[in-house]
Parts: sequence; structure tokens; C-alpha cells
Amino acid sequence: MKKIAILGSTGSIGTQTLEVVRENKDIEVLGLAAGKNIELLEQQIREFHPVCVAVWSEGKAEELKVKIADTDTRVVTGMEGLIEIATLEKAEILVTAIVGMIGLRPTIAAIQAGKDIALANKETMVTAGHLIMPMAKEYNVRILPVDSEHSAIFQSLQGNKGNPIHKILLTASGGPFRGKKEEDLLNIRVEDALKHPNWSMGQKITIDSSTMVNKGLEVIEAKWLFDVNVDQIQVVVQPQSVIHSMVEYEDGAVMAQLGTPDMKLPIQYALYYPERRYLPGDRLDFWEMGKLDFEKPDMETFYGLKLAYKAGREGGSLPTVLNAANELAVSKFLKREVKYLEIMEIIEDCMNAHKNIANPSLEQILQTEAETYERIESRR
Ligand code: NAD
Ligand code: MG
Repeated sequence: MKKIAILGSTGSIGTQTLEVVRENKDIEVLGLAAGKNIELLEQQIREFHPVCVAVWSEGKAEELKVKIADTDTRVVTGMEGLIEIATLEKAEILVTAIVGMIGLRPTIAAIQAGKDIALANKETMVTAGHLIMPMAKEYNVRILPVDSEHSAIFQSLQGNKGNPIHKILLTASGGPFRGKKEEDLLNIRVEDALKHPNWSMGQKITIDSSTMVNKGLEVIEAKWLFDVNVDQIQVVVQPQSVIHSMVEYEDGAVMAQLGTPDMKLPIQYALYYPERRYLPGDRLDFWEMGKLDFEKPDMETFYGLKLAYKAGREGGSLPTVLNAANELAVSKFLKREVKYLEIMEIIEDCMNAHKNIANPSLEQILQTEAETYERIESRR
């Protein structure tokens, strides 16, 4: 039996991870953590019988305790609770399906407790890749990518016997506003930005995909996961989302992973690596498809991507500023407190104001996050 815990079990990646668990009989869920949706969490507890679950707020945790009083599952709360789920004694793999840099401390705790990480929570890698990668080496744990592009790169590297990567070709759908210019984006509403052409995902990453900041975060994520510099990473718009990313070697050979847009594939691959198992679902039909398209990304309109390259190139605490500014700006956009284009303006403003700290510690990363939030709150 493979034993896992999941941070963010009620979200898009979390629920799809549990679908994979449901299909495979040799996997056991020991711990779950969720934010607010205790109705769904209760169902998950009754189906998967975890020993312990974490709920962010005390209030919700008390409600949940009443609902599940007839079960043996323990309920814990807050950051301590997340860390407890991340470090559960018998768990072997932690699936980080939580959204945002709140995943930072639990992920580090899990690595220090020797857990392999099935990493969906890209914000953690973006802000602390320089801490996480050496730590994973030190504690001899594997970081298995769940993000579809990074899983595709990881899959394209299988069987490679130490040849260097010449280039990573990171594919992007281009999102719902591909081809649009600044003047078309002035009055984008939340509903418009939440319509992704190919993938169904959580709200924050769906907005990030529309601004292309998601691709920017993925450039930085790839830099750490595959030990390349950001200028070896080329973003290629591939609107059908069939090619999930590619690796170019020194001799010009390009290896790619293709598939239907289904996150269960990268999730299952991370959980069972290096084994490939049957996965129900649609298959690609190349006769039906006919053709694939490719474009260059528009980094002038979607300059969040350009800012991410800058943050990735300069490193230090600048990626934390990019990420934290984006997290708060997107949550404000979702609450209709800022306009669509302000997301990118806020990121740029915070990055310009920041005095970069080289090689920041965890405390300095969290401090940078807090300062970035303060700057945004004191705007206007
Ligand atoms: P989501 O919003 O659907 O789910 C987030 C989960 O985190 C929920 O279960 C929520 O309850 C939980 N959560 C949020 N705040 C919490 C807190 N304070 N304490 C405990 N739990 C908390 O998000 P998602 O789309 O599943 O994305 C999760 C992560 O995976 C993100 O980092 C995202 O960038 C990454 N990712 C997602 C996809 C996708 O297809 N959805 C693809 C690639 C990468
Ligand atoms: Mg992705």
C-alpha cells in the first residue's frame, strides 16, 4: 500500500487526486487538509478514512468535529495543522494541491520529515526553489512534478543518460484572451477571465492563465525543477493544449509529451513514478485533430510573463514579490476591488519598489511577502 497525504483535498487538483486514488486499490489516504469546504471534506473523510484532517479556521474545524463525531478521524487547525498533515508519520508522499505560498512551510516540513513531494503548489517553488531543491537532495526526497508542463518535461527526460538539456519548450494555451491587445482588456470582468479554453482549474490559476502570469510562474518553477537558467526556457503558445511541453537536447532532438488535457495523468504519474498505469479517459485522435498550431507569446500585452522572466533571472527575493503581488492582486480582482489590467500594474509596481535580497531565508521570504502585501494595501 502506498500511503499519501493531500494538502488542498477539496480543490481542483485535490479532488482529481482522490479520483486517481479511487481508481487504484493499492493507495491509502492518511491525511487531508482543506480551507473552507467542510461539506466536501466530510464526504472525503467518510470515503477515504484518513487518520487526521486539517481545516484552516477554528470555527470550521469545530463544525466539522460535530459532523464527524462518529468517525475516528482527528481534526487539527491552522498552520500547525497543515504541518501535522504534511509530516504524518506513516505517509510516504505529500500531494501539495494547496493554492498559494501558504504551502511553503508545510512543504519544507514534509521534506525535512523525509516525504516525497508530488508538487502542484508552484507558488512554493517560485518563492523558495533555492531552499527546496538543496533540501530535497539533503533529505533524499523526490520532488515529482504535477503541473502538466513540468510533468511533460519530466516525462521527456526519462531514459536520458545524463545529457544536458539545451532548451525547455514550455507550452502555453495562451488563455482566453490570446490575440487581444491592451485596449481589449480594459473592461475584462471576472466571469470573462474565469473561462479557460481547455482546462478546468481553481479560480486563482485560471486568472493566472488568462494574464500569462501562470506561465511566468511555470518558467521559474521549471528553472528550479530542471536546473536550467530561465533563458534556456522558451514559451511556445500551442492553443490546443495537446503538447504539454518539450525538451530540446544538444543535437537538436526534441522530446515531447502529448495527451488530452487531463490532470489525472500527471497526478497518477507522480504518484506511481516510474510506473505507468491504465488511466481511463479520452485518447488523442490525430486523424480527428488534423493539425496543431504554434505562436510566439505576446509579452508586450501580457507583460506579467516578461516580469516573471526578470524575476527568474535576477532571483533572490524578487520572485517572492512577483508571486505575492500577484496572489493579492488576483484575490482583489476576484472580489472586484481592482480592474483586470491592474493585476499586472500592481506586480510591476511592487517589483520596481523592491530592494532585492540575495538567497533569502524562509523568514526573509515571508517578510518580503508581508511587505509586498503592505505596499499593495497602502496604494492610493
Ligand atoms: P483550488 O482553488 O481548486 O484548490 C485549492 C485547495 O487549497 C482547496 O482544497 C482549498 O480548500 C485549499 N486551501 C486554500 N487555502 C487553504 C488554507 N489556508 N488551508 C488549508 N487549505 C487551503 O486550486 P487548484 O486549481 O487545485 O490549484 C492548487 C495548486 O495547484 C495551485 O498552486 C495551482 O497553481 C496548482 N496547479 C493547478 C492545476 C489545475 O489544473 N487546477 C494545474 C497545475 C497546477
Ligand atoms: Mg501548468
